[in-house]
Amino acid sequence: MGKVEVVRGDITQMAVEAIVNAANEQLLPGGGVSGAIHRAAGPELAEACRKVAPCPTGEARITPGFALPAKYVIHAVGPVWRGGEANEPALLEKTYRSALALARAHQIRTVAFPSISTGIYGFPLEKAAPIALRVLLQEAPHFEALFLVAFDEKTYEAYTQALRQLAP
Ligand code: ADP
Repeated sequence: MGKVEVVRGDITQMAVEAIVNAANEQLLPGGGVSGAIHRAAGPELAEACRKVAPCPTGEARITPGFALPAKYVIHAVGPVWRGGEANEPALLEKTYRSALALARAHQIRTVAFPSISTGIYGFPLEKAAPIALRVLLQEAPHFEALFLVAFDEKTYEAYTQALRQLAP
């Protein structure tokens, strides 16, 4: 059974086979974690994204990692929070599942995720954390290790608390 770990840090530094990008449907660099990943990977990443774009909400696309320590980037598009009545929780779950399905299809054994949709897309962190971790825990047997990388303390706290509740 693979492990699920919550860590605090910068996902661009993660030496795993694939890091997940919280992407937009156009797969354009943008801000937040996506901007950081594109800066660290170099301009070839935007070029590779153009070839596999667009990516509808809930789906994922894969590219090389270029200058990143990670061999691949899995670009996954989470939902924009619209108040909670627009299927956002199911779409967020689907986004994590799509990213992991793509990883499995490429025989990838180690994957690091950011907290998809809880930045610019406005998904409430305390609702997103258990959704993300439930999928990661379910899929863990198919992997060596799955990481949830929290960029700030508030995110780290929300995920460690959710992990304690789901996998005590
Ligand atoms: P979204 O548009 O899906 O909400 P954001 O990039 O705005 O995506 O935010 C998603 C999460 O990624 C937020 O918790 C944000 O703090 C975090 N984040 C930003 N930069 C990094 C980074 N370098 N590594 C890991 N997480 C990051």
